[in-house]
Amino acid sequence: MKFIDEYRDPELGKRLIERIHRHSNNSARLMEFCGGHTVSIFKHGIRQLLPKNIEMLSGPGCPVCVTANADLDKAIALAHLPNVIITSFGDMIRVPGSYSSLQLAKAEGCDIRVVYSAQDSLSIAQDNPDKSVIFIGIGFETTAPTVAATILQAEQEGINNFYVLSLHKLCPPIMKAILDMGEVRLNGIICPGHVSAVIGSYPYQFIPDKYNIACVVSGFEPLDILLCVDMLVDQIETGHYKVEIAYRRGVKPEGNQQALRLMDTVFEVAEADWRGIGVVPESGLRLKKSYQPFDAEAKFEISMKPSREAKGCLCGSILRGINTPLDCKLFGKKCTPEHPVGPCMVSSEGSCATYYHYGDYYGG
Ligand code: SF4
Repeated sequence: MKFIDEYRDPELGKRLIERIHRHSNNSARLMEFCGGHTVSIFKHGIRQLLPKNIEMLSGPGCPVCVTANADLDKAIALAHLPNVIITSFGDMIRVPGSYSSLQLAKAEGCDIRVVYSAQDSLSIAQDNPDKSVIFIGIGFETTAPTVAATILQAEQEGINNFYVLSLHKLCPPIMKAILDMGEVRLNGIICPGHVSAVIGSYPYQFIPDKYNIACVVSGFEPLDILLCVDMLVDQIETGHYKVEIAYRRGVKPEGNQQALRLMDTVFEVAEADWRGIGVVPESGLRLKKSYQPFDAEAKFEISMKPSREAKGCLCGSILRGINTPLDCKLFGKKCTPEHPVGPCMVSSEGSCATYYHYGDYYGG
């Protein structure tokens, strides 16, 4: 299949692996910030193919996982309001909040529907004019433009029963927050492919400039990731840190201007609450004042109990890269994909689910 097979070519993969082994002398800790990369790295056994001096860490790039319990509790509280339909991406439904989950709320009689896009949600609003339809807007810069486009469409078509709970998050600010926390020592970052297709590669320039860390945007196929690692190793071995793109077919340095314009029309940068990290200034998106009629937070009043974390769950520190799922005593015992305790075991891009499905289960 075009654009897949050529990026899975075993011969090219072998040559790249040999090259990495040949020129990687110094120890290097590389973090993939994107959950999609974590899945691909595990699925294709890439960690095991790299030299022992290269250590791979997973970061906070799973939108479901980084949604704080307080925000999830908000979504559950909104679901209990009368005449409300909640629409959400599938993974989010099963994530346990502080006291309940959207799945449990559905079992209690709340109208909660799984959608594949904000657009589906708008159709539900059109079909149910006597109900308020609230879309739980999670995701990074990848999904925010499509949500913005849907809000603009709702405005244009005069649909006044469609709302968004904007929990969108921004990638570069959380990278900066993690680097500033200084809990993990990193030599290189595998930058997210899909996010970068929207924002481009320029917003990562602070990483080599301020932190002397190698930085390469990667695609998701095994050869994309191996090429990315090879480029990171080059930077680390030569000490010339910069932002490079190993995913030219998907990412331009300047990003996707149309998507950025859409995002900028509807949203403004605001603080966001990240699981395990807390509130980070300018790391999220909220609806601009002019789009407040579509803002679920502005429209609905809810009361909530203080949020709390599941006992023993290490999702927060796994998202910061200071623990792996194997450090969690509940992993594979009390916490499995069938009975998840935390979001990292629910989401298809969560580290715990990835370790569970693809990892050398008890060996990492
Ligand atoms: Fe949380 Fe389960 Fe992962 Fe442990 S294994 S960190 S309980 S999601």
